[in-house]
Amino acid sequence: MAYVITGLCLRHGGCVDACPVDCIVAGYPIDEWPYYYIDPATCIDCGACVPACPYNAIWPEGEVPDELRDDIEPNTVYFESGPGYSARGK
Ligand code: SF4
Ligand code: SF4
Repeated sequence: MAYVITGLCLRHGGCVDACPVDCIVAGYPIDEWPYYYIDPATCIDCGACVPACPYNAIWPEGEVPDELRDDIEPNTVYFESGPGYSARGK
C-alpha cells in the first residue's frame, strides 16, 4: 500500500521536498493531469509528505475518504502508462 494524492491537491508543491525517495511529481500536462502524483511502486509509506500538505490532499491508500476514492487510481496510471518521471521539470 502506498500513499496517494487526491483531488484536494492545489499544486503548491510542498510535498515534493518532504519525500525521502523522491517519488512525488507534478502532473503534466496540467489540463490532463491536474494534481501531483505519488509513484506507488517507489513510495515507502513513511508518511513524511502528509504534514507538508496544507490542503490535506495526501492519504494512505486504505484511508482515503469515500468521496475521494476515484482519485486513487490516477497515481498508478500516471506512472504506469502516463508521463511519469519523464515529464518532471516541464
Ligand atoms: S509516504 Fe513517504 S515515500 Fe511515500 S510519497 Fe509520502 S514522503 Fe514519499
Ligand atoms: S503539498 Fe499538497 S497541495 Fe501541494 S503539491 Fe503536494 S499534495 Fe498538492
